Amino acid sequence: MNDMTAPNSLEEFWMPFTANKQFKEDPRLLVSAEGLYYRNHRGDDLLDSCSGLFCVALGHGRREIREAVANQLATLDYSPPFQFANPGAFELARRVAKLTPGDLNRVFFTGSGSEAIDTAMKIALMYHRCRGQSQRQRFVGRERAYHGVNFGGISVGGMVKNREAYGIGLPGCVHMRHTWLEENRLQPGQGSHGAELADDLQRFVELYGADTIAACFVEPIAGSTGILVPPKGYLERLRAICDQHGILLVFDEVICGFGRTGEAFGAQSFGVTPDIMTMAKALTNGCIPMGAVAVREGIYDTVVGSGADSAIEFFHGYTYSAHPTATAAGIATLDIFERDGVFDHAAALAPYFLEQIFALQDLGVVADIRGYGLLAGIDLKPTEKPGERGFAVLRGLYEAGMVTRVTADTLILSPPLVSEKRHIDEIADKTRSVLSGL
Ligand code: PLP
Repeated sequence: MNDMTAPNSLEEFWMPFTANKQFKEDPRLLVSAEGLYYRNHRGDDLLDSCSGLFCVALGHGRREIREAVANQLATLDYSPPFQFANPGAFELARRVAKLTPGDLNRVFFTGSGSEAIDTAMKIALMYHRCRGQSQRQRFVGRERAYHGVNFGGISVGGMVKNREAYGIGLPGCVHMRHTWLEENRLQPGQGSHGAELADDLQRFVELYGADTIAACFVEPIAGSTGILVPPKGYLERLRAICDQHGILLVFDEVICGFGRTGEAFGAQSFGVTPDIMTMAKALTNGCIPMGAVAVREGIYDTVVGSGADSAIEFFHGYTYSAHPTATAAGIATLDIFERDGVFDHAAALAPYFLEQIFALQDLGVVADIRGYGLLAGIDLKPTEKPGERGFAVLRGLYEAGMVTRVTADTLILSPPLVSEKRHIDEIADKTRSVLSGL
């Protein structure tokens, strides 16, 4: 590399979720971005087909967010979040609460999605404890779920590679079956088969006793595992079982949240309201790390109402909870969502997006396609070495001028919500040409 932006050494930085040796032999450096395009160290423009990592919903380099962050840094760069607060934290919480369904109106801020998951697990435990049910310590998750990489998240999550090297994780986590079914193959939107998979939760109730289960965690659409859309009736059934047995239902909306499904949250798209919701990513358009947990008012009241007036009710929080720059970025992001009707735009574009992506099913290498809103997963027929084909597609698309995401042999597409039809066409054309060449 002889570009001015090229680093002197690639050795010191240990890259996350990356084949370090392979990358360092043939690096892909992204050095700038504007709108829907990155520029790499070679000067090529690349379409961002994945909103960064599901987070840059409004496209890159948004002036309003940049200015809000710059102003915030000049006014108050940091304030401690324990026993003090910055005004933006209250305002962002109020704005998030306006978007959440039902009475999920109390918001705890974290620094990432993984932290939001651990926070939600602790809130669930704390809530039951305050109600005199501290024996409810079991968590139900799902196979193929991704809830981040902290120990709570990998324990309740179900992506094998993220768990297998790290021992048993938290005790008491059990997993329902995932919702991929052959019968729903190549079905856009929600599949007709599989609502009964939710009865796995009922089986855990019968096996362990409802009064040992604190919460059931699911992503409305399982994202990182390759876009598993919930079968029709599935989330409703989980809700009913949770209601019947006093189990908290937690939706991990880290990917689905903020318009990805065409509504503010997957909860509204699927018409099921959880008790707790985790979010991150598009909350700040990805430009400043931030996560959040929204809970029903009764959960907050139970925990906060449980102690003496001067007592700290919840022994939990992060140095960067409600960081002023993150709250400023969040408010500016939510302003744009509202001002520009971004969720409605995403909803209007979704049918075209899904039509173009599902049209790729004629390619011999495609095994399945799933999608909902502006989210789609394309399973490729694997070669003998799992993941090899997926990586070849990632490389091929990069050379063709597109940044995307693959998980094993599944290609994931989640374009910015502000995309136009021409961007969708570019994604479909480039994907077709690279997949045809395999
Ligand atoms: N939960 C879900 C559903 C996610 O998709 C992710 C990240 O992709 C996380 C949690 C973890 O978020 P973070 O990477 O910000 O810790």
